[in-house]
Amino acid sequence: MEEAKKKGLALHWQILIGIGLGIATGILLCRITPYENWSPYIKWAGDIFLRGLRMIVIPLVFTSIALGVAGMGNSAALGRIAGKTILYYIVTTAIAAAIGLTLVNIVKPGVGANLNLAEKVTSIGTGEVSFIDQIVAIVPSNIFESMAKGDLLPIIFFAILFGLFMNKVDKKHTGTLSDLFTAIYEVIMKITFFLIRLAPVGVFSIVANVVGKQANDPQALINMAGSLGVFVLVVWGGLLIQGAVVLPTLVRVLGKQNPWRHISKMSTVLLTAFSTCSSGAALPINIRDSQEKCGISNKIASFVLPLGSTINMNGTALYECVTAIFIAQAYGIDLTLVQQIMIIFTALLAAIGTAGIPMAGMVMLTIVLSAVGLPLEGIGLVLAVEQLCDMPRTCINTYGDSCGAVIIAHSEGEQLTI
Ligand code: ASP
Repeated sequence: MEEAKKKGLALHWQILIGIGLGIATGILLCRITPYENWSPYIKWAGDIFLRGLRMIVIPLVFTSIALGVAGMGNSAALGRIAGKTILYYIVTTAIAAAIGLTLVNIVKPGVGANLNLAEKVTSIGTGEVSFIDQIVAIVPSNIFESMAKGDLLPIIFFAILFGLFMNKVDKKHTGTLSDLFTAIYEVIMKITFFLIRLAPVGVFSIVANVVGKQANDPQALINMAGSLGVFVLVVWGGLLIQGAVVLPTLVRVLGKQNPWRHISKMSTVLLTAFSTCSSGAALPINIRDSQEKCGISNKIASFVLPLGSTINMNGTALYECVTAIFIAQAYGIDLTLVQQIMIIFTALLAAIGTAGIPMAGMVMLTIVLSAVGLPLEGIGLVLAVEQLCDMPRTCINTYGDSCGAVIIAHSEGEQLTI
C-alpha cells in the first residue's frame, strides 16, 4: 500500500498525459510563434530520451542473447525455441501483409489521388538490396562496425554464436563469462528503469515537436482530408484488425492467456513504441515488463524479444503492402495477381530487413516498389503522412513481439502471471 502510494500515478497514465500535453503544447506554441523558434527549447528533452534508449540497446541485446542462448544449454532447446519463434514471426507478418493487401484493394484510396500532392523525395536512399545480399549481411565482417552502426541483425547473429560457443569452452571460462554478462545485463536493466521514469517528459517533447511541425504545414493538413486521409484510415484500419483481432486471438488460443489483460500490462511498452516510432527504443522496456509483469522467463524474453524487434514487423509489412498498392492506384497502374503476391512476399522480406527506428519502413518501401516496377517517386506521395503511419505501425510491431513471447513461453510450459 505504502509502496503504491509512493509510486503515484501509474507510468502509462503519465505517458498518456505526456502525449496529451505534447499535442496541446505543439498546437498552442505554433499559434504564438513559428515552429522553428520554439522547437529547440522543447526538442532536446525528447532527443535525450531517445538517445538514452538507443545507448542501452546494443549492450542489452548482446548480453541478453548471449546469456539466453548459453543458458539454454543443449542446442535442442535452442533449436526448438528458435524454430517456433521464426515460424510465429513469419506467419503473423504474412497475415498482416495479406490484411493490408485486401483492405487497400477493397477501399482503393489511391484511385483518383492527386499526384500533385507528391513531395520531393531527396533523402530516401535506394534500398535496392537483393535478398541474397540481405542474408549475407547477417554475418558481420566486423562486429564493432555493426555495433557502431547499430545493425542489430549481425549483432544478434554474433551473440547467438557467442552464446553457443560459451558452452563449449572450459567450465571455468563459461562461468566467468556468464557472471560478467549477467552483471552487465543487470546494470543495463537498472539504467533502463531509470530511463523509463523519464518517458513521460521525453514523450511530451517528441509529440509536441511532431505536432508543431505538422501544424506549421497547413498544406499537409489539407492533403489529409483527401485521398491521403483515406490512405491513413486504411493503414490504421488494417493495423487495428491485426492488433485488436488477429494477435489477441493468437494470445488467447495459442498462449491461453487473457489478451486484454496482456495488453494492459504492456501499456507502457506500447505507448513508448507509439510515441517514439522505434521498436528498438521500446525493446528494453519490453524485456523488463514481459518478465516483471507477465512472468515470462528471462531465457525466452531475452531471446524472442530482441529478435522480434529486428525481424518481426507486422505493422511495417502491412504498411508496405497498403502503400505499394496505393501508389500503383494513384499512378493508374494495374497490378496482376502475381504482382500482388510478389508485393506480399517482398513486403515480408523488407519488414524483416527493416531496422527498429523511425521511418525505416519507408526507406525499405523502395525494395517493394522496385520488385514490381512501381515508380519510386510514389514515396513522395505518402511522405506527408509518414509520422501518422509510423506511430501505429511501430506499436503493432512491438505488440506482435510481445504476443510472440507470451505464446512461446506458454508453449514451453511456463506459468505466466498475466
Ligand atoms: N518505425 C518502425 C519500428 O521501429 C519501423 C518502420 O519504420 O516501419 O518498428
